[in-house]
Amino acid sequence: MHERHHPLRHVPLGTAREVVSFHYGPADTGRKVYVQASLHADELPGMLVAHHLRRRLLGLESEGALRGEVVLVPVANPIGLAQSVLRQSQGRFDLATGENFNRHYPSLLQPVLARVGTALGPDEAVNAGFIRRALREAAAEAAETTELESLRKTLIGLACDAEVVLDLHCDGESVLHLYTGTPLWGQCEPLARYLGAQATLLATESGDNPFDEACSQTWWQLAAHVGGSVPVTMGCLSVTVEFRGEAEVSPPQAERDAGALVDFLRHRGIVAGEAPPLPPLLRPATPLEGSDAITTPVGGVLVFQRGPGDWIVVGEAVAEVVDPLTAQVTVLRSRTEGLLYARETRRFVHAGASVCKVAGSVPFRSGKLLSA
Ligand SMILES: [Zn+2]
Repeated sequence: MHERHHPLRHVPLGTAREVVSFHYGPADTGRKVYVQASLHADELPGMLVAHHLRRRLLGLESEGALRGEVVLVPVANPIGLAQSVLRQSQGRFDLATGENFNRHYPSLLQPVLARVGTALGPDEAVNAGFIRRALREAAAEAAETTELESLRKTLIGLACDAEVVLDLHCDGESVLHLYTGTPLWGQCEPLARYLGAQATLLATESGDNPFDEACSQTWWQLAAHVGGSVPVTMGCLSVTVEFRGEAEVSPPQAERDAGALVDFLRHRGIVAGEAPPLPPLLRPATPLEGSDAITTPVGGVLVFQRGPGDWIVVGEAVAEVVDPLTAQVTVLRSRTEGLLYARETRRFVHAGASVCKVAGSVPFRSGKLLSA
């Protein structure tokens, strides 16, 4: 294992901040996995999984069982981790710009196209090598005029040439669920099984370039661009893993989750040895365009009738919002049938707030598909 320190640029005068990455296994086999935790800085279950994963990776490395490089960034967002307002951590949005830390990663299609140009030929593996090199070069040239952009450039630079990218997050109150690219579902399904994911949300364009999509989208964009004239594989399985609710920070659970990630890497052949049999798939993947983010039209006290893991039918009441001044009770209903996979932690809400999400199988939304 070796440890690398990546100082952020454009930090406030007189301060210093860095991203720390831990590198396990051989870096010269052409295989690479990238795992980062807590891009939304105070989403901590993934950070604890990373802690347990470190020990597992060190053991695998000492046994000579790693067939590629595994890069682990346990604290992906030192900027957000330092943000606190009136005793409340603020890890989702950058206080300086108001931007979500998991949006606005650079799109690398054009700079990659400029590099691979006419170099792609009949061999898919050779093409993948060209594309990975172009991705590294394009990421290294991304603009960075603020500390936030410096963070984004550092993370995408570490991840962009990996064949597997896992971005470990959590939701408010939630079952374990995944987000990945629609063309990646076949590669992602074993991960969903080992982790016991109860929902997987698929999209090719979620809006505003979240991290996982920025890592993987260039492959399907390139494939569309060349239109089948030369083979372009889906060379990056990039997945956002939502490790349940934000308060579910439990060492035994984190140990099991780290074990499931190792099982998946074994199944994929990056860790030597036979993987355990694939567990059953708990739920089929569904389109992110079919996920209903139920919002409240009024403010008040939020009272849930249904919770994470419940199956909801169309029109079913999932919550009420109580206005104790008018005595009005507003019932919130789902527009789709599916699994309620995440809900809000707060119990006082303002008008317009999103209170829970239901993974339906029928697309009905368009535009920006992720919550703010
Ligand atoms: Zn998150």
